[in-house]
Amino acid sequence: MTTIIPIALAGEVKITPENKCSYCKGATCCTYLTQPLDTPRSMEDFDLLLWQISHVNTQMYKDEDGWFLLVNNPCRHLQPGGRCGIYETRPQICRDHSNDGCEFEGPSGHEDFDIFFPDYESLLDYCRRKFKNWDRRFKRAASAPARARQAQA
Ligand code: SF4
Ligand code: SF4
Repeated sequence: MTTIIPIALAGEVKITPENKCSYCKGATCCTYLTQPLDTPRSMEDFDLLLWQISHVNTQMYKDEDGWFLLVNNPCRHLQPGGRCGIYETRPQICRDHSNDGCEFEGPSGHEDFDIFFPDYESLLDYCRRKFKNWDRRFKRAASAPARARQAQA
């Protein structure tokens, strides 16, 4: 199937899927990585996500494909001007990447996600709304062995 992208002009040049990347200044697709996450369900799951999103330049989102970690760090092979420093031996995932609907048309925004967590605070707020006893979770865990001992006595 032929890929159809909106026609844009760079000066007098017609942008096509074939020449699009050569007119891309920032190569935004090489400045972050995403990693699928198991769908979080329990307080323990979300507690782990809070640890992950606490790391610098890390965000999180959910879309129709599930939950993803978003790490906003550029690839070390990205050259000034947007060229790939290891183009001939670049990983398969880079070869498979389609420029159809990529960031050339504009940066991703909140409207691209079902839920977007830009930082630790936004995820913490979500956890507190999702679990009524979120702020008491460590007390519950600490008291569990004590309850078990009481049951044995
Ligand atoms: S895929 Fe898109 S963002 Fe990446 S280099 Fe090509 S035009 Fe730029
Ligand atoms: S290896 Fe090359 S194509 Fe792949 S992310 Fe890095 S700079 Fe981009």
